Amino acid sequence: MDFIAATNNKGKMAEIRRILERMGHTVQSQREAGITLEPEENGTTFAENAKIKAKAICEVSGRATIADDSGLCVDALGGAPGVYSARYSGVHGDDEANNDKLLRELADVPEEKRGAHFASCVCVYLPDGRCAVYEGICPGRIGFERRGDNGFGYDPLFIPEYTGIPGKDASIINREGRSYAQLTADEKDAVSHRGQAMKKMEAELEKFIADGVQ
Ligand code: IMP
Repeated sequence: MDFIAATNNKGKMAEIRRILERMGHTVQSQREAGITLEPEENGTTFAENAKIKAKAICEVSGRATIADDSGLCVDALGGAPGVYSARYSGVHGDDEANNDKLLRELADVPEEKRGAHFASCVCVYLPDGRCAVYEGICPGRIGFERRGDNGFGYDPLFIPEYTGIPGKDASIINREGRSYAQLTADEKDAVSHRGQAMKKMEAELEKFIADGVQ
């Protein structure tokens, strides 16, 4: 299937592209399609925001659209930054400032209380108005310092509970405590919130397109 992806986040786009292409789909970013629209993400849940973005870009492009809304939920912060992950420090998309703020907020929080999870809602929106949302969660904890150079966003601070091999295994215990940014792309996609949401999407896609049932 051919998609347009409703995101201007380069790191997220790279992941959406590699996961979709591995599944045999094709995708163009909204930038590549010449769409500069940045819909206001004024929902209160990941699912609402994913739908807002997918609907807006689908209506402008007239093409099947995929959107991901995602974020980091930290136990010791009552689930924050959550839907505000991209603008946690006050400046939208400033990964360094967001990570600095997270480290500051957790400065006095001991190892056993640094639990967190990443969540992703992936919305597929079709030009006839039908849409479906799929959710993926990745449990883990927040490190005491940045580690690793791969990925984007909070990757250097997030230590997933498991790592994996795409399509085969998503249950290898992360004994070395590697951060998302220390995993290979394949290892991250096998266990990541986004990888899991898109795996659910892939399992349902044919049925959804055929009869619109989620
Ligand atoms: P949004 O979905 O565009 O509202 O932004 C999601 C924000 O959550 C990103 O800007 C990142 O800060 C963070 N985020 C989402 N997924 C990931 C990920 O896979 N790694 C690191 N940070 C992520």
